[in-house]
Amino acid sequence: LSERLSGVFDRLTKQGALSEDDVKTALREVRVALLEADVSLPVAREFVKKVQDQATGQAVTKSVTPGQQVVKIVHDALVDTLKGAEDPGRLKIDNPPAPILMVGLQGGGKTTTTGKIAKRLKEREGKKVLLASLDIYRPAAMDQLAILGAQIGVDTLPIVKGQTPVDIAKRAKQQAALGGYDVYMLDTAGRLQIDEVLMKEVQDVAAVVDPRETLLVVDGLTGQVAVEVAEEFDAKIGITGVVLTRMDGDGRGGAALSMRAVTGKPIRFVGLGEKMDALETFEPERIAGRILGMGDIVALVEKAQDTIEAEQAERMMKRFQKGQFNMNDLKMQLEQMQKMGGMEGIMGMMPGMGKMAKQVQDAGFDDKIITRQIALVQSMTKRERANPQILQASRKKRIAAGAGMEVSDLNKLLKMHRQMSDMMKKLGKGKGGMLKQAMKG
Ligand code: GDP
Ligand code: MG
Repeated sequence: LSERLSGVFDRLTKQGALSEDDVKTALREVRVALLEADVSLPVAREFVKKVQDQATGQAVTKSVTPGQQVVKIVHDALVDTLKGAEDPGRLKIDNPPAPILMVGLQGGGKTTTTGKIAKRLKEREGKKVLLASLDIYRPAAMDQLAILGAQIGVDTLPIVKGQTPVDIAKRAKQQAALGGYDVYMLDTAGRLQIDEVLMKEVQDVAAVVDPRETLLVVDGLTGQVAVEVAEEFDAKIGITGVVLTRMDGDGRGGAALSMRAVTGKPIRFVGLGEKMDALETFEPERIAGRILGMGDIVALVEKAQDTIEAEQAERMMKRFQKGQFNMNDLKMQLEQMQKMGGMEGIMGMMPGMGKMAKQVQDAGFDDKIITRQIALVQSMTKRERANPQILQASRKKRIAAGAGMEVSDLNKLLKMHRQMSDMMKKLGKGKGGMLKQAMKG
């Protein structure tokens, strides 16, 4: 899409490209927004620098200001940074019984989140889950987990007084295997701040169960502290993911960005309240909007971009209706097809087009060679693309050679172009405005 958009900018923008000054001015505001959202200073600084390089020279969309454009670029970069390769809601819990270790500071929301995740696994994935509290320091902690378990209908390991966390972990592991559980979750004790005893204890437990997931639960409101906690836990224990709690509060969630930038670990879930169903899969778009706090600007730029796309589509359609369908249009169609899963995919989406797709395919259209067909068009001059009828033998030879293909390949492409051109004309004349529908889709 961005490729297509930048192509659109080239043709349609009057304001030209973002100057270094535009970018700098806009980024000053962005930096303030990031810091206000509790993004740590070094992370904010580095992020802004990265975006600066990226944004300078980019085209500005018609009807938005350079500043607005930068905000949109920043938003997209934020989403990019926050997004991991993995699906946040999908914990690695195959090979039962899979141990999940819950770690973090006291009061961060570990016990609550343990219950929430257990409920989710049970209800959405049909998993049989066992919960065990390793918090031997606060007498009420084990009862708290047992009560939550009863409330959500998930088993908890029977409480045995006088055991060490490692003893309990071993017992949970055994029970999980014997009882046919898919997952067992270990809710560890926290401290008010990081200390060596806590780390050692969690390390010992991890050594016993070899957790499939080690989820760090941190209070999303604590900003800088949360980042330090994440760094420390990751260094000492090795976390696999993060859960940010208290995101139902006023905080703007900058910790998410810092944490992601510092540890590189995915944010899995977001806690949005005390209730057992107040847990959501982490959504980068949403948090990015919240961190930046400039959602209206982002929406504005997106709308402007959409408008331009619509205008362009409209113009293209008008030309098609008049039977003007040149090689550039064909190339654009080919590129779009590549993105949409090939000819069959694109035709399959239009009512009554299945047969047409077959015809086009029979005419030598093969999804695998789209790339080569695009190369052929690229090998043509501007004039040739606009008027494919001028292509005689010598031109054809040159074009085919330029793309490393045979003239017969080019002839096939030209035949396909003629057929599509006819098809477009017919569709344009049709009463239903099918082409218009198709273009919108
Ligand atoms: P732990 O010490 O890490 O186990 O923390 P707890 O799970 O006991 O949670 C501490 C307090 O934070 C409890 O009162 C929870 O109800 C509350 N809490 C946990 N997660 C959230 C959340 O996402 N939003 C809000 N508003 N409160 C939460
Ligand atoms: Mg607890």
